[in-house]
Amino acid sequence: SEVIRVENLSKMYSTREGDFHALDKLSFAIEEGGFVSIVGPSGCGKSTLLQLLTGLLEPTSGQVLIDGIEVRKPLPEKTGVMFQDATLLPWLTAEENVAFPLSLCGKDKKESQLRARDLLKLVGLGDFINHRPAELSGGMRQRVAIARGLVRDPRILLMDEPFAALDEQTRFKMGEELLWIWQETRKTILFITHGLTEAIYLSDTVLVMGTKPGRIIEVIPVDLPRP
Ligand code: ADP
Ligand code: ADP
Repeated sequence: SEVIRVENLSKMYSTREGDFHALDKLSFAIEEGGFVSIVGPSGCGKSTLLQLLTGLLEPTSGQVLIDGIEVRKPLPEKTGVMFQDATLLPWLTAEENVAFPLSLCGKDKKESQLRARDLLKLVGLGDFINHRPAELSGGMRQRVAIARGLVRDPRILLMDEPFAALDEQTRFKMGEELLWIWQETRKTILFITHGLTEAIYLSDTVLVMGTKPGRIIEVIPVDLPRP
């Protein structure tokens, strides 16, 4: 069944130079368990789209439906979000960072710790639960952010160039790890990147966006054998 549906989604920004169409009547749908990448040049509206999907931004027209319901505000129980930089809290340990969204919704502390620990193990950081972000590498910080994105067990992961800041080797490893997590957890993933190769390697469908104004110009179904 369909978990994400984007219908005629448009976003206009008003600037001093006048109105600017960042997205123009975008439509697409993502099936449960799908791994869809969105690729496109800088400025085509990828981040705008992600913010609309998370409910952080309001569309000018059109709508985003998650499980058939229009998104009007962030839905952390349904969508986990990950950005280019890991945005961890520097004074908290890896475990505390991962558990943080649970503390915000009043979950039991002991239970939250155990859940955070399990997720850190899942992303290969079982030996680093007490490290603070500054004591971890870029790739490790990004893995902590992935664990945090999973902590409330959302069915959907929205990722905005999550590996862009990493060196190529680490990015490759993170891609492999994400595929593994996807296969283990059967989440629906929307992955934004500007790298076409990475998109084709990782996802089952690639939506290519063009600019001026932002719209989908091509849909590439990928049928690669999975590791
Ligand atoms: P991408 O993520 O693909 O690089 P963005 O969604 O960040 O694209 O931006 C799409 C376009 O909208 C760009 O031309 C950008 O300059 C413009 N834009 C983004 N945010 C704003 C804003 N708050 N106000 C005005 N223009 C914006
Ligand atoms: P760029 O964003 O610089 O255009 P790409 O994402 O297209 O880079 O990737 C550059 C090279 O790195 C490609 O040859 C690709 O095979 C490899 N690569 C990068 N990231 C991954 C990944 N996550 N999984 C597999 N291969 C990757």
